[in-house]
Amino acid sequence: MNRLGLGLALLMLWGFVVWAQEVPNPEGLAPRIGDHPGYTRVVFDLPPGATYTLEPLGAALRLTLPGLTITPGITYTDRPELAGYVMEQFEDHAGILFLTPQGVSPRSGFKLQELPAAEGEGKRLVIDLSGAFADTTPFTPPPNFSFVKAKGRRFSVVLDPGHGGPDSGAVGLVVEKEVNLEVAKRVAALLQSAGVEVILTRNDDSAFSADKRTDLTARVNLAKGRNLYVSIHANATSPPRADWACGLEVYYYGPDNARIVYPPALPLLPSQPVIAPPATPPDALQPNLPSEAPIQPQEIVPPSPLPLPPVTPQMGSSRRMELSRTLASRVMSYLLSTTAALSRGVRTADYFVNKFATVPSILVEIGYVTHPIEGLNLRNSDYRDRIAYGIARGVLEYLENDYPTE
Ligand SMILES: [Zn+2]
Repeated sequence: MNRLGLGLALLMLWGFVVWAQEVPNPEGLAPRIGDHPGYTRVVFDLPPGATYTLEPLGAALRLTLPGLTITPGITYTDRPELAGYVMEQFEDHAGILFLTPQGVSPRSGFKLQELPAAEGEGKRLVIDLSGAFADTTPFTPPPNFSFVKAKGRRFSVVLDPGHGGPDSGAVGLVVEKEVNLEVAKRVAALLQSAGVEVILTRNDDSAFSADKRTDLTARVNLAKGRNLYVSIHANATSPPRADWACGLEVYYYGPDNARIVYPPALPLLPSQPVIAPPATPPDALQPNLPSEAPIQPQEIVPPSPLPLPPVTPQMGSSRRMELSRTLASRVMSYLLSTTAALSRGVRTADYFVNKFATVPSILVEIGYVTHPIEGLNLRNSDYRDRIAYGIARGVLEYLENDYPTE
């Protein structure tokens, strides 16, 4: 290419750049990242007149800036809510891909604010990222669930709001025993409206016994002769993870004998004793209690446990395990669809109530009371409605579709 050709090419390129760049484009156009309790804030100042689109893609959030140019590159941020971002230059637009390990969807994972442009400036975009941003809008349940396949059959379900009385459970932005009970009551009302008999292990702030084993044994004994058992709990964790651990879990007593596949929630208050293995020689029936259920020293009374139900229930234990897993999956699916909350998965664990309930049994962790945003969600009545509907609908779908007919 001769000098004239090069000049023409440069002129054409310049012309294209001017055409593509409909707005002034200051150098160093890049997001600013802020670290906040429970979320990561991304601030982006647009040039005057610039437009944008923002698109949740699951594991990433894509910001598209028509007619702008940026300096391509990858920046790692190492935040739980933002792993980093990729800046790319395309022919007619710039793109920034924010990598969001906790996930984003149209209903969850991020919040966008657009601040109006000041004189001579562009708009400011403020994008907050957190797995705890879920759907907390008011919820209207669809028309009443009606049983079709199980016509004429009367089901009976045990709902177990975890903790109670002297045992508060985890304490954060909400007290676990209170939110457990509130959600359980809402689940009960929904199930009853569908014609299911409901037995609550507690209807108020009480427990069968201050002794944890006695209390839990009394609770699971209520499952005898019923169709299934659902325990409702909330999670907590200690610093430094307290401001980012969030999401839903559903547990059942599983085939790998309770290997918890994710770091377990830690006791919230370091001063509270962690439950230690029993001083008496362990026998085959001694369960590991949930790690989140510390016992206050004064609550420990001389052991006079009720007789434990047999580990192998009337329906074979492997069968019960399968059914429990199916129930867990149903409940998790409907929890996710009603709340759009972060899923931490269906898991197995050695929880007492799942191991010893003689019927299909699950334990639902409805969120982290310690997370700055999820803790607030759990205080929100609309969100509690959504959680309750997810559990109730999962139970009803299970009873309709999966419960053994023989
Ligand atoms: Zn609990």
